[in-house]
Amino acid sequence: MNAEEDSSIKVIVVGDGAVGKTSMITRFAKGIYTDEYKKTIGVDFLERTAKVDAVGEELTYLLWDTAGQDEYSSVTKMYYQGAGACVIVFAADRRDSFESINKWHEAARKECGEIAYVLVQNKCDLNAAVQPEEVQELAKKLDMKLFQTSVKDGVGVDDVFQHIGTAFVRGQTAKAKQPAAAEPSPSGAPETPAPTTESKESKACCNLM
Ligand code: GDP
Ligand code: MG
Repeated sequence: MNAEEDSSIKVIVVGDGAVGKTSMITRFAKGIYTDEYKKTIGVDFLERTAKVDAVGEELTYLLWDTAGQDEYSSVTKMYYQGAGACVIVFAADRRDSFESINKWHEAARKECGEIAYVLVQNKCDLNAAVQPEEVQELAKKLDMKLFQTSVKDGVGVDDVFQHIGTAFVRGQTAKAKQPAAAEPSPSGAPETPAPTTESKESKACCNLM
């Protein structure tokens, strides 16, 4: 990638309140974690430039927090606009947050279309209120790559962003190689590769793997 504008990706992180979205963004962008829960107030985002290992390139992640929009119906169009990837988070110990995934996915799909979607089961350091099979089933049904994380213990977070970065950079490279007059694919889908084609993640928790 040469163009400056190609080396950054807007990543949105959605999911019910208190599942760990702000913690995940803060952990990845700043490397810090706090047990304090402060409901996010106002629009906020953090950024971090990191090397995408699989392709050996630097990428700037523009990480948009939902800023208190913890109801799927309250998220604004502006929040979704221009997103290159969407992380949908639920908390392992909260069944209700797992049951909201469909709605979050639907709402994001409606605004963002065919971008990369990643399902994250956070708080894997706590007792799970969902069965591993049902989580895997949902990820498969919605065609999302599944990651298990404990933002608290620092497990799995980098894997989420490595995966997103790899899919993004490969998508950009594929686009650049295409002849200018290339026909759109029969499905009308953009060229971004599906997130499910990536290699297995290095770390697992929640006894799912
Ligand atoms: P958000 O509303 O989705 O942005 O959630 P927050 O990031 O504010 O986190 C809500 C609460 O969950 C905070 O008290 C965090 O410290 C806590 N939390 C976040 N991630 C984890 C985790 O992996 N394990 C545990 N046990 N707590 C977590
Ligand atoms: Mg928050």
